[in-house]
Amino acid sequence: MADLDADAVVVGSGPGGSTVADVLTAAGWDVIVLEKGRNHLIDLEPPYRPKEEFSNDELKFMHRHFLGPDPLLEPRTYRRTEADGERLLLGEVNNVPSTVGGGGPHADGKLPRFRQEDFHLLSARGPVEGAEIADWPVQYDDLEPYYAGAERLIGVAGEAGANPFAAWRSGPYPMPPGPDMFGARLSSGAAARRGLHPYRAPTGINSVVWDDRPACNDCGFCAGFGCPIHAKGDPVSSLRRALRTGRCQVRPEAYVTEVLLDATGHRATGVAYLDAAGERRQLRAAHVVLAAGAFETARLLLTSEVGNSSGLVGRYLTFHFQTFVVGGFPFSLHGHRGRSVTHLQDDFIVPGPDDLRAAKAAGLPWFRGGTVEHGAASLPVQEAKTYPPGPGHLEAMRSSPLRDKLWVFTMHGEDLPQAANRVDLDPSVRDAWGRPAGRVTYAPHRHELAASRHFAPVLEDVLRDAGADWTITSTSPPQDDLALHERTPLGVAPASRHVMGTCRMGQDPRASVVGPEGRFHDVENLLCADSSVFVTSTGYNPTLTLVALAIRTARLLSGAG
Ligand SMILES: Cc1cc2nc3c(=O)[nH]c(=O)nc-3n(C[C@H](O)[C@H](O)[C@H](O)COP(=O)(O)OP(=O)(O)OC[C@H]3O[C@@H](n4cnc5c(N)ncnc54)[C@H](O)[C@@H]3O)c2cc1C
Ligand code: SF4
Repeated sequence: MADLDADAVVVGSGPGGSTVADVLTAAGWDVIVLEKGRNHLIDLEPPYRPKEEFSNDELKFMHRHFLGPDPLLEPRTYRRTEADGERLLLGEVNNVPSTVGGGGPHADGKLPRFRQEDFHLLSARGPVEGAEIADWPVQYDDLEPYYAGAERLIGVAGEAGANPFAAWRSGPYPMPPGPDMFGARLSSGAAARRGLHPYRAPTGINSVVWDDRPACNDCGFCAGFGCPIHAKGDPVSSLRRALRTGRCQVRPEAYVTEVLLDATGHRATGVAYLDAAGERRQLRAAHVVLAAGAFETARLLLTSEVGNSSGLVGRYLTFHFQTFVVGGFPFSLHGHRGRSVTHLQDDFIVPGPDDLRAAKAAGLPWFRGGTVEHGAASLPVQEAKTYPPGPGHLEAMRSSPLRDKLWVFTMHGEDLPQAANRVDLDPSVRDAWGRPAGRVTYAPHRHELAASRHFAPVLEDVLRDAGADWTITSTSPPQDDLALHERTPLGVAPASRHVMGTCRMGQDPRASVVGPEGRFHDVENLLCADSSVFVTSTGYNPTLTLVALAIRTARLLSGAG
């Protein structure tokens, strides 16, 4: 330690980075967390009180980028394929907040575990032409203790046994589920009548007092908003524990620009970063842990020209192919009360004989959909922008057909990994600091499209049975005329905030970027602790799994096992 600033420097303070800081400091390590965004989450001096800067303010969170990143300062670019030229659009592409806590404060925290099959999809179901499916080097049984640890660390409310498709678990959830949303009761009832299996979503939201934080009061501004009372299992808990050891520093507005290597090129010596004043600084550390999120970790590696002997950094980018099935009801659903989503169903992840027949008819050996969220539409400013101004506006807002009377199924469809789908560096767009912007090249595989077309009509039927007068289906990214989508809130780029797979994990250094312990094949003391390492996307929300893997990576690193 004599000439080092820390045992480990962690890049990014989201769910992955804050977990690593928590585990390493508990093991006695000195850790510095560098975070590009500002701090609105927790006082960084004792007694480390949660800050009181979050509010139910749609303008602040949705339009003024309170939690960052501001797309004017940090633009990204998108194209579907190389045939689109250098880019199709510039601005906001799959942005996850850039702030102390990363996407944790912003997310509404559905935190399901993956199933056993998800970790060996190639062995279980076989290859699909045009996709690079592979088995994970870690299996569910290896990860189960870390899943249990992640649920305790975040504080997950759920009901063991409620989901018939769930993998085995060694114990109950830390907390019981919170109250159901009214609309979810209607849609769950109709789904069950259709033979589906809705269940109360495991959520990282307190249903009782937990970890000195209060129970959720169902304020309704959950997805996309920081929680004003810190009832969410955002990384406030892990960062607070790490800070309380006295062995952790969190430095906001510290933008890491380079991973530094020694003369051999196989050991990291630390990182270079820009501080809030734009001054270049360096930190020396025995280990560097990247947890900048699957987009920014790849971008940092590509700008640093580190870790990429396989040529795979940034490749196999996956999202979830989102299918939105919307129903309009003749009565109010009170979607503004609740935690955005209280129910899920996983039937489409485990295709039955009819589903497999439909896959064959579409020329595929099999397909899988994804978990389906039963949710509300609850943003009043967005609604107001959809009604024309004039005398009818007030009445439209009062009767609220496009908010209080809508119910939405969102299917997070499994997105098969393809080498052409990737994050790379845009050849000419720069951010406000002069660094190359990241660019997404992404087009869904026909697997995703066929699964979406097959499962969406089932969901439309369920909504009609629940009482909807009308239903419509759309997808993200859209598959029809792009011009129709340019001015809609979702736009033409994929809107999923589940970003995975840009530094694939595996045993073979020629076919993967990091090993099974999260260590880069090329650089022995450089590790990754975010969803970059995912081998396949599965049809599940990613955060619990990335936190479980981050616990495992940090415990193996510190020798705690
Ligand atoms: C509205 C919304 C709802 C969501 N809902 C869910 C959900 O229900 N369930 C679920 O599983 N997931 C959900 N997600 C996704 C979830 O937020 C992410 O999976 C999760 O935050 C990823 O964690 P991470 O630690 O890997 O990365 P992030 O949370 O992205 O954190 C990375 C951090 O690194 C920082 N960083 C990046 N580059 C640098 C750099 N060069 N230098 C320094 N710092 C850097 C970033 O500023 C950021 O704070 C949701 C996301 C959003 C936006
Ligand atoms: S719904 Fe609950 S967890 Fe979500 S922001 Fe409101 S109080 Fe917090």
